[in-house]
Amino acid sequence: MGSGYYCDISAFLILICLIYAFFIQRLNKVEDNNIVFAAMFFEMLSSGMSIVYYMHPLNRYELTAAYYIASWVLTAIGIALLVLFLYFNRAYNIGAAKLTIFVGLPLALDIIFILLAAFGFSPVFRTLAYSCDVLLFTTGINMLYAYKKNSPLECTLMLFLMLLAAIAATITELVIPELVVQRFAMSLLFAETFFSLKNPEEQFDADTGLIGLESFRDEMRRRYYYMKRHGGETSMALLMIHGSESFMRLLGEVNELKLRQSVISEIKRIANGASVYRLKQGAYAFLTEKGGREEIESIHEALIRRFESTFGNDAYEMELPYSTCRIDLPEMASDGIALMDLIHVAIKEGKLYGKSVVDLKSLDLSTEEYMRQVDEKVRHAVEDGNLEVYYQPIYSLKEKRFVSAEALLRLHDGDKFIPPDVFITVAENNGSIVEIDDYVIKQVCSMISGRNIGELGLRYIELNLSVSDMLQDDIAGKLTKFADMYHIHPSQINLEITETSDDTFTGVVEANVMKLSQLGFNFSLDDFGTGYSSLSRIIMMPFDIIKLDKTIVQSPFVMDTEQERRNAMTLLESSADMIQKIGAETVAEGVETAEQLKEMERLGVDFIQGYYFARPMPESDFINAVRAMNKR
Ligand code: C2E
Ligand code: CA
Ligand code: CA
Repeated sequence: MGSGYYCDISAFLILICLIYAFFIQRLNKVEDNNIVFAAMFFEMLSSGMSIVYYMHPLNRYELTAAYYIASWVLTAIGIALLVLFLYFNRAYNIGAAKLTIFVGLPLALDIIFILLAAFGFSPVFRTLAYSCDVLLFTTGINMLYAYKKNSPLECTLMLFLMLLAAIAATITELVIPELVVQRFAMSLLFAETFFSLKNPEEQFDADTGLIGLESFRDEMRRRYYYMKRHGGETSMALLMIHGSESFMRLLGEVNELKLRQSVISEIKRIANGASVYRLKQGAYAFLTEKGGREEIESIHEALIRRFESTFGNDAYEMELPYSTCRIDLPEMASDGIALMDLIHVAIKEGKLYGKSVVDLKSLDLSTEEYMRQVDEKVRHAVEDGNLEVYYQPIYSLKEKRFVSAEALLRLHDGDKFIPPDVFITVAENNGSIVEIDDYVIKQVCSMISGRNIGELGLRYIELNLSVSDMLQDDIAGKLTKFADMYHIHPSQINLEITETSDDTFTGVVEANVMKLSQLGFNFSLDDFGTGYSSLSRIIMMPFDIIKLDKTIVQSPFVMDTEQERRNAMTLLESSADMIQKIGAETVAEGVETAEQLKEMERLGVDFIQGYYFARPMPESDFINAVRAMNKR
């Protein structure tokens, strides 16, 4: 103490952290981080005392000694709190034994040595305390390295640099004791701990003040990691409030807000210290620190008890439709993805059947499991070479031959196929649709140019685009690029689109249709008659072809009663009539029998696509089929 070289800036560093922490804590109600704040606070007091002493040295030796002891005791308390925090917070994902040996022990020894030195025992103790610190900092680096996957790279790097600086400072003071910079090193450790806490803004959901989905995923990742390495299990309770959006809105804004707040505060009360995560609108997960089954079960029961009665006040009172369930890990879901699937299923089950308690164990999860496998296959479909484009010829009733074909995608799964209706939807959901579409477009373009389809008597190939394709800004650019690459004319491709039922998108879709149409691509409206196509849009968009869906084509032949068949036929007739009157050509899809074919001829349909003439087939079979038919 009292050295003229004293340059303790740790107080400032910690002060800045504390001020920062104070504000975010105020704003976001961070509760769990209080121990770290307290630790930092004690460190700051002790650093502050040193700075004060440096500016106004005390003249009596006894006072100096007391001051010195007080300052180091505060440091020791700060460190002790940090030990506690690290011990209780399993954020570092290491087992209790490792934590004790590599973190707890050095920190504890550090405290003891510091106190011994402060109370006037040999200065060797201070050297020993520093050595403990160096050990601690190195373990810190080691841990950062071992668990680098748990945090983003920038964060790991920053913490790494802080620890390096801390080691340098400690060694400096070991070698040149007059340069009192070690406490600065210590403060870096505190700051590091503070910053490795999750940023509360990401952590908390703005509406409810509950913890958000991202943090839930992080926490689950940690728990799975822990369970894999050290065994053990974790349970959670799930609360789902159904249709909260729509019916709460009926109450009017003020009451809706009040109701929401009262639900959230009840949820927090029932949680009784457990963490509550808001997974999505109306879905909440309850997790306890230890994840024990009994604790969760009692929360689960309390939730049911509370939600059996009503919410509200004098003005209104209502029961909330809800479901709950308990999930035991790793038993019911072996990893994070499976868990999210399971939660999804639970929400769906509860909503669908209005069950108050969803018993996940009794559910048949095979379809979910199947969808997950499909998801996995779809993600790797292109690179694994499991995709193949099939072609289904389209017959012209006037010319009595095949004049075009539709490209239909197949996903091989062993010696079976996964149906396109299934995997296209999955691909749209997981984003691989873009890559898959590129594949289809390329295949089709290369087929058109390689097989010289004009000579075969085919004018164009129908290519299916999904709504998500039509929402891409560069879809026109992409299609022209491929057309140029394979030296084909845009008119050799007909783009099939289905209408969206969502009005918000139609503007973008229409703009893309116009652009592509100017570039020379033709359009077919797919699935007419399934309820998604709105009549007004047919007028607005330049469709050259309208494809009658197979349901509307087959209905007049397969409905149960005479009356139904007659009505279905009326619908089919007037649809065909309307399409002719607006000047578009008609394709009847799903024609399977001679009877159906005859009827289509009567209705004046232009083209037939159906099993009656040909099924979708691989490229070479398709070429042979077209040759055989068109030679006649
Ligand atoms: P879609 O565009 O309506 O395709 C016509 C579907 O009707 C095809 O089913 C075809 O095999 C089937 N079909 C044709 N003739 C008959 C018939 O006479 N009877 C019966 N029962 N069915 C017939 P597929 O190949 O299973 O395709 C299903 C859907 O998957 C397609 O419906 C389309 O929406 C989508 N799809 C297929 N390939 C692609 C693609 O490359 N991209 C996109 N975005 N979607 C695709
Ligand atoms: Ca189609
Ligand atoms: Ca269709």
